[in-house]
Amino acid sequence: MINFNVPPFTGKEMEYIRQAVENQKICGDGEFTAKCNKWIEERTGTAKCLLTTSCTHATELAALLADIKEGDEVIMPSYTFVSTADAFVLRGAKAVFVDIRPDTMNIDENLIEDAVTDRTRAIAVVHYAGVGCEMNRIMDIAKRHDLYVIEDAAQGIMASYKGKALGTIGDFGCFSFHETKNYSMGEGGALLIRDETYVENAEIFREKGTDRSKYFRGQVDKYRWMNYGSSYLPSDMNAAYLYAQLEMADEINDIRLARWNRYRELLAPLAESGKIELPFIPEGCVHNAHMFYIKAKDMEERTALIRFLKANEILAVFHYVPLHSAPAGLKFGRFHGEDRYTTRESERLLRLPMFYKLTEQEVDYIAGKVKEFYHEG
Ligand SMILES: *Cc1c(COP(=O)(O)O)cnc(C)c1O
Repeated sequence: MINFNVPPFTGKEMEYIRQAVENQKICGDGEFTAKCNKWIEERTGTAKCLLTTSCTHATELAALLADIKEGDEVIMPSYTFVSTADAFVLRGAKAVFVDIRPDTMNIDENLIEDAVTDRTRAIAVVHYAGVGCEMNRIMDIAKRHDLYVIEDAAQGIMASYKGKALGTIGDFGCFSFHETKNYSMGEGGALLIRDETYVENAEIFREKGTDRSKYFRGQVDKYRWMNYGSSYLPSDMNAAYLYAQLEMADEINDIRLARWNRYRELLAPLAESGKIELPFIPEGCVHNAHMFYIKAKDMEERTALIRFLKANEILAVFHYVPLHSAPAGLKFGRFHGEDRYTTRESERLLRLPMFYKLTEQEVDYIAGKVKEFYHEG
């Protein structure tokens, strides 16, 4: 059976976890957490990176830093993982969903401005499959309406838009290191902060509302309860697991891209004959092969294809029941404008196996089976 995902593992993880244990500092903000933060800061160019317990929690921190409150509105796509909305809804905000572009599955930058009201406080964009949203346009809208921009870059580490790392363009960027992502620590994430003036508050929110981070750096002689907050820092053992992969980030990225390109090359004939659609990478976007998806004609064809692949020992999956049609979406959100693509495209999209240790032979086999399903090849 070819799994849909296998968590990344390079071989060095156990040694680093052992080191973390031997350091006798397995709580948060130990040696490996510091190394991961530094690596991310250097690679992305962000002013500050804080490792967190998840991307969901990084987004919650962003919502706290943006001071999102009851009655505020946050514009976002409906075609996304629940966390994009959860973080803001938890603060009492309303999720205002706008439609996506069918080519990238990202929020349609041309529909955002029409959804802005006097209650809008932020735009939360999602870089689907590690392919950047039209950030120049989005930042311009945000600037004119005085809105925060939060990038859900859960899938976007090592990818860029016009030379800028995803997660570093908006006010706050959120990475995920869940086991389904390109680099993992089991459960984990990171908050990227563009403007240093937010760092002090971010550290306080992340450390249960205390100034413990300052205390550890010797900047205050005791730490105190400064504000509300929660616990968003991961164990250093988890950071140790992640660091083993960050050290090899380029190798992992290259292998993923090679598999992605192979899928694309092998399935191109099916796209040319109009049987399926393939992912589109806009000019100026460098992606990270987070995901390889195809689009079938409709849901019925997709269901049949999933069944066919499963019978051939291949696990392919779809995702995102659009948030606006889910029970919580009906309660906490509203769709602005027409749902032209969100529902329709979400019903056609199918993700093929994609992970670090996926072999070229496996890609060949999977692509061959997809072609067989469409009676081609
Ligand atoms: C994976 C993912 C998340 C959640 O990440 P966690 O680290 O599991 O909290 C949020 N948004 C998107 C788009 C994701 O793909």
